[in-house]
Amino acid sequence: MIEPIVAYDPRAEYRAHKAELDAAVLGVLERGWYVHGDEHRAFEAEFAAYCGVGHGVGVGNGTDALRIALLALGVKPGDEVVTVANAGVYPAVVVREVGALPVFVDVEPTTRTLDSRLLEAALTDRTRVVMPVHLYGQPADVDAIQDIVRPRGIKLLEDCAQAHGALYKSRRVGSLGDASAFSFYPTKNLGAYGDGGFIATDDDAVADRARLLRAYGWRRKYVSEVHGANSRLDEIQAAILRVKLRYLDHGNEERRRRARCYDEALRGVTRPTEPEWCEAVYHLYVVEVDGRDGLKGALATRGVGTDVHYPLPAHLQPAYAGLGYQPGDLPVTERLAERVLSLPMYPRLPMEHVDRVVELMNELAAVGPGRSRARHAPSR
Ligand SMILES: *Cc1c(COP(=O)(O)O)cnc(C)c1O
Repeated sequence: MIEPIVAYDPRAEYRAHKAELDAAVLGVLERGWYVHGDEHRAFEAEFAAYCGVGHGVGVGNGTDALRIALLALGVKPGDEVVTVANAGVYPAVVVREVGALPVFVDVEPTTRTLDSRLLEAALTDRTRVVMPVHLYGQPADVDAIQDIVRPRGIKLLEDCAQAHGALYKSRRVGSLGDASAFSFYPTKNLGAYGDGGFIATDDDAVADRARLLRAYGWRRKYVSEVHGANSRLDEIQAAILRVKLRYLDHGNEERRRRARCYDEALRGVTRPTEPEWCEAVYHLYVVEVDGRDGLKGALATRGVGTDVHYPLPAHLQPAYAGLGYQPGDLPVTERLAERVLSLPMYPRLPMEHVDRVVELMNELAAVGPGRSRARHAPSR
């Protein structure tokens, strides 16, 4: 029997660093300080330094990181936040959470990130923040965005949930805007074994507000200076992340190596484009293909797991129908939603799996999934 090929194996990295990870977790259990202790403090400093910023603020998950960053940047109910609709519902969710209005712009077809050429037309007097997403590990063209927003006093918040360690013109993502948000959801390039999130910023005031907002507005315990909720990165996750941060660059290199193999061998699909001004970290390896659902099914039949990120754009989600968007409003985003397919990708993905996926993809793409199925159908 042929071994099934999974799109992502969460155990691969654990097995590779089991002794260190076990010791980190057990150390926290032994010390008996489980929330906001030494591990958390050290991780905040270490990951901020890695990103090249002065401040790091650990929070409970990536969604909270975006939400708290929006508030820390001064977004108020009624403000507008310009973002993209092809990156799941997360940007829309957090903008609504703070009472602001999401304004979606289409994405640039090669990088699949916010199209700066469409940005100016989306700005109004109420635009407070522009929030590009470094989707699939591919940095957005932040300088082109900054040229438009900075003269207007609009803040830039990077969604780095899929791009830990990616480089934009030799600078780390997370250090490019006024603030940035990371998720440590287990599947991310830097993933915990539970939930976690992080705000990175060079701005002292933004960092200070974010710290207040994640803990009841407390500077001193039990004294609330501002209205804030509770969002914490616990000590066990922080200890795990400190170990895994040491292997992040290596893991990203491993992802890039597998991406190069896919790039060189895949035929008949649109492969991801990596502009020369960046170094993408391939959180996902996403191709575009006609007849995506048929191909996905044919691959599944042959034991290959794939995924779709994301099948329904944010502007067409039932929950956000009230915003008034119609099919056709974001043509590139909508076409991508029909055609994107995420192939198996993680740092320890066996190279034989990459070869097998390529072989199947090329065979299926050449004949089309429907005809291929007929060809393999038993003649009895
Ligand atoms: C995962 C993700 C988030 C949310 O992070 P959670 O930790 O799951 O809350 C936000 N934005 C993007 C682009 C993501 O991929």
